[in-house]
Amino acid sequence: TKYVQSSEKMINFRKEHLGKGLSLSYEKPLHIVRGEGLYLIDANGKKYLDTVNNVNHVGHQHPKVVAAGQKQMAVLNTNTRYLHEEIIRYAEDLLKKLPPHLLVIHFVNSGSEANELALRMAKTVTGNKDILAIEVGYHGNTNAVMDVSSYKFEGKGGFPKPETTHILPLPDSFRGKYTSENCGIDYANHAKEIIQNLKAVGKEIAGFIGESMVSCGGQIVPPKNYFKEVYKHVHEAGGICIADEVQTGFGRMGKTFWAFELYDVQPDIVTMGKPAGNGHPLAIVACTKEVAEKFNTGMEYFNTFGGNPVSCAIGRTVLEVVEEEGLQENALRVGGFLMVELKALQKQFPIIGDVRGEGLFLGFELNDSEKNPLPEHASYLANRMKQLGILMSIDGPDHNVLKIKPPMVFSQENAEELIYRLNTVFGEDFMKSF
Ligand code: PMP
Repeated sequence: TKYVQSSEKMINFRKEHLGKGLSLSYEKPLHIVRGEGLYLIDANGKKYLDTVNNVNHVGHQHPKVVAAGQKQMAVLNTNTRYLHEEIIRYAEDLLKKLPPHLLVIHFVNSGSEANELALRMAKTVTGNKDILAIEVGYHGNTNAVMDVSSYKFEGKGGFPKPETTHILPLPDSFRGKYTSENCGIDYANHAKEIIQNLKAVGKEIAGFIGESMVSCGGQIVPPKNYFKEVYKHVHEAGGICIADEVQTGFGRMGKTFWAFELYDVQPDIVTMGKPAGNGHPLAIVACTKEVAEKFNTGMEYFNTFGGNPVSCAIGRTVLEVVEEEGLQENALRVGGFLMVELKALQKQFPIIGDVRGEGLFLGFELNDSEKNPLPEHASYLANRMKQLGILMSIDGPDHNVLKIKPPMVFSQENAEELIYRLNTVFGEDFMKSF
């Protein structure tokens, strides 16, 4: 195939005719034309190792997933108002992966839509509007989810926090408000306090929404007992607990299939997205029987695309491939190796302030000796890694956290290559000057 459009032309067209808020990665944007397993390939045929994409969960263009979509696409694609086996089979397989108390499923098309529905459920079930959410959390781009995504409303171009949203401090045990051994309890006490203050003015909460690991917030792993305590306070107040597993689900943690399982909590609602369809728009809301029954007020829930046979065939195949290829075990093994190697790099290069994460959901941040963030160094590192053929992304409120959340087929050799290249760049003069 010949790619006739120059990058410059495409950039100009985007500037003129596509949404003004759309961003492009890298100072010199990439023109990617093909995906294959762990690699993205540009218009010149240059291959990049992808450590960013947790959407293409089982690998870019996985042949089995592609075939499942093509096959069903050629036969039938309709909404859920007819009986179809695919939705039943997918729901059955998904339920096997969830704890038994979560047994009702709604299929939707994006993480935003999943969280939108989850919030509406919490509000309908409790009859309340007030929601607790985590600082720098991100839950999507629709109105209701933006209202609980402080990543957005406190960020560049944001809007003031809505009155019904109550933000808990980011449970960052490295650079946050509390850093002691038992800081999970200190962070969770904010939930208790907010609930008490609301009660004092005659208000009750609808619930709590939280990413099981705060991703856009900088790959933050909440400290032990945090979720357990927050859930306790929320449940005692009659609220609904929503676990946003859009980034963290489907085996990525290695130890567990869902990240909330690491914390020994029982969410009332779990939302899933990104990896579910390996790039095909597919997202899910799972809830308890009680939530599902109370949400059913008699009004129809209709979703034109949600749960269509093509999406369900793709989703079911993704689950199958995760199982067949032992990808959860791979995340545990390769993620564990990466963690050890990153910690070794940290000893060698003091610019690495913290290394954290689980499985193939890792992050490290760059700081000076006083823990001040070094965003320019993060940006230098990502651009240099790109030159060396490895894609990495930066996030966190201070833009100093490098995220590692590759397709789950990331192998030991890929991990070794990543560490080798990181070692090279960390040794460069710019990375040593801070
Ligand atoms: N929740 C989390 C934790 C996310 O990271 C995202 C997307 N970055 C969303 C929800 C929204 O998902 P989508 O972009 O599919 O609407």
